[in-house]
Amino acid sequence: MKLIKSINPFSGEVLKEFVPLTPREMEISAEKAQNTFESWKKSSFTDRSSLLKRAANELRENREHYAKLISLEMGKVIKESRAEVEKCAWVCDFYAEKGEEFLQSDRIDLPDGKKAKVLYQPFGVILAVMPWNFPFWQVFRFAAPTLMAGNTALLKHASNVPQCALAIQEVFEKAGFPEGAFQTLLIDSDSTLRLLENPIIKAASLTGSEKAGAAVASTAGKHIKKTLLELGGSDPFIVLADADIEKAAETAVKARMINFGQSCIAAKRFIVEESVYDEFLALFKKHLSALKKGNPLDEDSDFACIARPDLAVELFEQVQKTKEMGGKIVVGGKAPTGNPADFEPTILTDIPHDSPAFSEELFGPVASIFKVKNVQEAISLANATEFGLGGSLWTKDLKKGELIAAEIETGAVFLNSMVASNPWLPFGGIKKSGYGRELARHGILEFVNAKTVYLG
Ligand code: NAP
Repeated sequence: MKLIKSINPFSGEVLKEFVPLTPREMEISAEKAQNTFESWKKSSFTDRSSLLKRAANELRENREHYAKLISLEMGKVIKESRAEVEKCAWVCDFYAEKGEEFLQSDRIDLPDGKKAKVLYQPFGVILAVMPWNFPFWQVFRFAAPTLMAGNTALLKHASNVPQCALAIQEVFEKAGFPEGAFQTLLIDSDSTLRLLENPIIKAASLTGSEKAGAAVASTAGKHIKKTLLELGGSDPFIVLADADIEKAAETAVKARMINFGQSCIAAKRFIVEESVYDEFLALFKKHLSALKKGNPLDEDSDFACIARPDLAVELFEQVQKTKEMGGKIVVGGKAPTGNPADFEPTILTDIPHDSPAFSEELFGPVASIFKVKNVQEAISLANATEFGLGGSLWTKDLKKGELIAAEIETGAVFLNSMVASNPWLPFGGIKKSGYGRELARHGILEFVNAKTVYLG
């Protein structure tokens, strides 16, 4: 039996080891989630709302504890870990305040004078399969609306963040949620697929890679269960000639380097009009070089390391292959010499079509910068990807910006800002970035039955 290990990627130290659940223990947890659902679905919005508010308070009161766990397990710098915990509190408060309104029944007046209602009722036990990159946020943005709607939840978290996974269950327990409303299961991928076959599980939400998404969605499909998939991205960041180039370049570096580049909505392909290309590239280099590398727990570190050595190797190979195919490394690109999870922030230009930097997701601190002749070429290049998560567009002409935004094939376009998730805004992708929406009203409607009641 393979142990689930919590390893500090910055030091390589094994922090803790966990024995995965047996198949029977997994079943017992699913049965417990189902039993809790039977009473939880009848609880009032007021009760659910006050429990979510208490979860938010627990996160704020013990922010340091949770933030430190995040940094230790996946190498995020502590200031970003704190911000992540705060954001989780925000999404709990958001659904505590808005959940009831979002789930109010709709009334329909039919043209023949008859009436109907649409009720929004919880599905039951929902399985969440989550990634390590924002180990708290990805879970809370799923859990807050799912619980508020009256569902119960089982979490299979990424294998490298078991301590975060257990701490999240602890947040809900400390807040006073009934036992079984939210449970973390330390299990591997194969067991997850078996669990999904259990009739108790009514639907699944997965955030992760295309491969994991396809595995979960095909198993769910065989059993006619709904899935929501939040997958990878290769977000364009388009800079037009009339943009505020200084602001665009400064934001571009933030958008690429957040979480050391390990974010689905990080800007990955910078598409710049040729008349401002040299200026943008010079400013990008300047802002990138100002970032400080250090221990994730140090207050002034801007970045530390990749979350696992194997992911650093994979990223390095993508950069090397792009170079071999004719791409140019302007900054970085050297192999790590000390810690195998180290990675040098890297800038690539002259990127050939079909190279990894052109067609794959680069999940780390590598910026691919492209020069284009005009707006039309920028739009075509932005859309020349299998992914469709987010996009950022820089122009001072907002009218033109809105028209271009309509042509970008993504789930979101941000004008003169970096793409960021926000509880008020629906979040999700198209194409191979997945389907379904999280956050806002859209998010809470994913795992409810929109039941039509015809009143006559
Ligand atoms: P991953 O390897 O796909 O893992 C995600 C989760 O799926 C983990 O819990 C993993 O468990 C599980 N998993 C992997 N293969 C599975 C299978 N065959 N069957 C069932 N479960 C399986 O992704 P990651 O490396 O953690 O995260 C990085 C990826 O997530 C990137 O592509 C990123 O863009 C994407 N992402 C997307 C969003 C979004 O909102 N769209 C947000 C964040 C990240 P194990 O750890 O045990 O393998």
